[in-house]
Amino acid sequence: MLVAGGCWLGRMGDESDGIDGKYVWKRGVTPYLIPHPPHPAPAPAPRTFEFWFWIVSGVSMYYIGAHVSVSGGVFNAPLRARELDASGFAMFVKNQRQWVAKPYTAEEIEEFKLNMASCGFTAGQVLPHAGYLINLANPDDEAHAKSMASLMDEIQRCEQLGLTMLNLHPGSHLRKITVAEGCDRVASSINTALSQSSGVKIVIENTAGTGGNLGSNFEEIKAIIDGVDDKSRVGVCIDTMHSFGAGYDIRTRDGFLSVMDHFDGVVGMDYLSGMHLNDSMVELNARRDRHESLGKGFLGIEVFKVIMQDERFKNIPLALETPNEAIWKQEIALLREFSRS
Ligand SMILES: [Zn+2]
Ligand SMILES: [Zn+2]
Repeated sequence: MLVAGGCWLGRMGDESDGIDGKYVWKRGVTPYLIPHPPHPAPAPAPRTFEFWFWIVSGVSMYYIGAHVSVSGGVFNAPLRARELDASGFAMFVKNQRQWVAKPYTAEEIEEFKLNMASCGFTAGQVLPHAGYLINLANPDDEAHAKSMASLMDEIQRCEQLGLTMLNLHPGSHLRKITVAEGCDRVASSINTALSQSSGVKIVIENTAGTGGNLGSNFEEIKAIIDGVDDKSRVGVCIDTMHSFGAGYDIRTRDGFLSVMDHFDGVVGMDYLSGMHLNDSMVELNARRDRHESLGKGFLGIEVFKVIMQDERFKNIPLALETPNEAIWKQEIALLREFSRS
């Protein structure tokens, strides 16, 4: 049986080919439908004194973590994050490759909240990721309505869990409308979603620009934000791999800082609400979405050192979506080490 999050990792790092609802699985990536034994709920790991000090004192800190699985139940996510010694995490709120999922039960919601509290996580440390099927730029009205319904369901799930953000890929114009029309369609969809919900911020992720996917440059993200009425409920997530794949050369300290200056000028640093920390399996400007473990790809380790020593990236979730789950704990420890050096 497939469960939410089951083997999702094998698919992590793929954008669709831009054809809504007809994803082309690309070569060299494990198909996600491989039978997978359910992850056992991890045994609680004790928190360090230092961790509780930061939480209790409210001092700003780096919220470092990974996109953890929700298999077995959404309430397992905080436990898995704690097991990784994470101070933040990302997760799906339902199966990311299906339109509908059964609603949470009251018990599931309660258990999630209890685990959040016992593991020391607050909503600001969590960046939920929306499903991959949602395409708010879809020019076809019927397909668009399906995306809206799915988005509303996900926002409601965030509300139920007490979470305050939902990270979304802007979508694809499917080469049927212009980029500007696509951005307008995304913005008006976000307006509709925000008017029918409360307390959840939509966090637009930059993309590698595969096919007709919007959001591979900061100008398109800015165009979407310009069309959103309530600017306090829209934010941006920068994925390091997507930036690199879309042509932003962030391999060096100077390169990264100048790209962030550009982001600040075009969009504004205030909108930055989270980051995905991934190395790249493909070269600069490959326009493809292929994540690699930190320091093992074409992007290299330098950019992650720079991020971990820049105060601007504190107090927002910084989530790994790297392909080797077995080394997440080490990758998180390495990032924490960078922040101290
Ligand atoms: Zn990606
Ligand atoms: Zn990402």
